[in-house]
Amino acid sequence: MLTSIAGQSVIVTGGSKGIGKGIAKVFAARGANVVVAARGLADAEATVNEIRAGGGTAIAHAADVSDWASVEGLVARTLEAFGTVDVLCANAGAFPQKKIIELTPEDWDQVLATNLKSTFLCVKACIPSFEKAGKGRVVVTSSITGPITGYPGWSHYGASKAGQLGFLRTAAMELARYNTTINAVLPGNIITEGLQDLGQSYLDGMAKAIPLKRLGRVEDIGYAALFLASQEASYITGQTIVVDGGQILPESAEAIDSI
Ligand code: NAP
Repeated sequence: MLTSIAGQSVIVTGGSKGIGKGIAKVFAARGANVVVAARGLADAEATVNEIRAGGGTAIAHAADVSDWASVEGLVARTLEAFGTVDVLCANAGAFPQKKIIELTPEDWDQVLATNLKSTFLCVKACIPSFEKAGKGRVVVTSSITGPITGYPGWSHYGASKAGQLGFLRTAAMELARYNTTINAVLPGNIITEGLQDLGQSYLDGMAKAIPLKRLGRVEDIGYAALFLASQEASYITGQTIVVDGGQILPESAEAIDSI
């Protein structure tokens, strides 16, 4: 049993849908005060209503994580509502698929800004609160794509997700002086609104390539984030946890067929 997260304030970027919504619900179900942040306020409010209907505490806030002023506004709103930022879940991200031959410099900048620059901006904005409180936790949603695997059409995405890990290894050292840890969860293929947009044949093919023979659930990532935010994980920093049903393990198509 993990030490209680109840009463702690948790920002979840991209908390209105998919993995972020799963993280928000896992933390809220255990009594955390959750800030659900996304660009679309209506979706964020819908998630907050679900959390409140289940007895949890949450507020919705519209923010674009690739924009510094917007991120500063998110942290200010969190401090106003709950007093501190105890946990930052830097989760918002996008994964448009385009091969390098068609990829434009603008496509590249957009994905890097949404996925990587945002991680830096969100961590930077929370530092004054971590310093004041003398503690803090950051959980980054990276991916297996980039840090471990590749997939045609996701060179920009993979670069952004691998970049998050490069960032966190130095951030872990810089945040240590504020008694703050930063770690990343590397999801495999998790059923979300964003993944469903890739189509049923992608989802079916992917499930066959996973040793546990199913796509992940958003809660699978939520539980890993909860552990990294817990008191019990206080000595873990700069590290990664792969949550992928064993997807990165098979050496070949024959290996997966022989399970
Ligand atoms: P999703 O279902 O498409 O949800 C994305 C969330 O991020 C939404 O809440 C979206 O809300 C928000 N968002 C996007 N751009 C934003 C911005 N600029 N500012 C603020 N919020 C923004 O995606 P998901 O599948 O849950 O993915 C979440 C994270 O997990 C991403 O970092 C992704 O790379 C990572 N991941 C996902 C999988 C998977 O299988 N699903 C696997 C590996 C890693 P708005 O559009 O309203 O802003």
